[in-house]
Amino acid sequence: MSTLETESRHGYEHGYRYVPFITLSELKPRVWITLSGCNFRCKGCFSLAREPIGEPMSVEQLINLVKKSSSDYYGDTPLEEAVITGGEPTLDRDYLVDLVSQLKEFIEWIVVDTNGYFLDDGYLKELIEAGLTEAMFDLKAWDEKLHEWYTGYSNKRILEHIRNAYGKVKLVVNTVYIPGIVDESEIEQIARFLAGIDRRGDIDYRINRFNTNLSYEKISRNPYPAEIEHAYSIVAKYMKNAVMGKSCVRERKIEEKRGWITVFPDGTLKRRTLDDYRKENERMKMKNATVDGEIKSMKKEKLIKAMRSSD
Ligand code: SF4
Repeated sequence: MSTLETESRHGYEHGYRYVPFITLSELKPRVWITLSGCNFRCKGCFSLAREPIGEPMSVEQLINLVKKSSSDYYGDTPLEEAVITGGEPTLDRDYLVDLVSQLKEFIEWIVVDTNGYFLDDGYLKELIEAGLTEAMFDLKAWDEKLHEWYTGYSNKRILEHIRNAYGKVKLVVNTVYIPGIVDESEIEQIARFLAGIDRRGDIDYRINRFNTNLSYEKISRNPYPAEIEHAYSIVAKYMKNAVMGKSCVRERKIEEKRGWITVFPDGTLKRRTLDDYRKENERMKMKNATVDGEIKSMKKEKLIKAMRSSD
């Protein structure tokens, strides 16, 4: 397979990333930047952006979209935080370093939310020099074989990359609790590993809930609240900063249930709620008979159209 084919299969062509939308928070001046395409194939993936959907955008085009939409929505209030997510944001190193560097010119707190596979010492250093303030690793499983089954890849280098990142940047680690698959014993071993690194007690470890409505494959059921609470109590034995939550929620306590403002590459804005997101996932799955091949064959424009028309 040529380099170009490999690149576009993962969701980028050099100098461009596919962007389905960016998202503005209603809670505080914050933007999520979704770079679609991913090297992993997580069976329980929640993200529409696992596949390279959206429009190819250069860093300049993306920065202009962030500036214009945030000024339209927040007025004179400056953005406080940018979370670069996906899909997988680290696929194109030059692109990501440039993006972080240009965002840093007007946003203080810059987060990269990653599966961690590519984020080695050299890459992390470049990002920190460009202005990165927080690395958020999604650690899918502790057991290497389980991790391979779930994602298609070993977790060895991810564990190494997490260890390496400690003390260099604010470090957050997320794991999705999946009943019968990634449950208490997996979570306990991850917590032990993190506690072994975390000399100052400043890693945030977040346990997210598996959600059958959002998952690509029906591999499990939704966890019961008591299971999550128990997992949390196990983590709390090892770590100070255990956080139960949802990956899309950055605050630990949300006083008011709100939605998000989705901004499409052409600049149009649409308010969406978590229910809209669920419906979009369902719609996408119904249009496709099997999990992998069919999403690739679905035209990007059709996907975006479906997302825009979901009310
Ligand atoms: S969960 Fe994240 S790392 Fe896994 S396939 Fe989905 S986007 Fe990629």
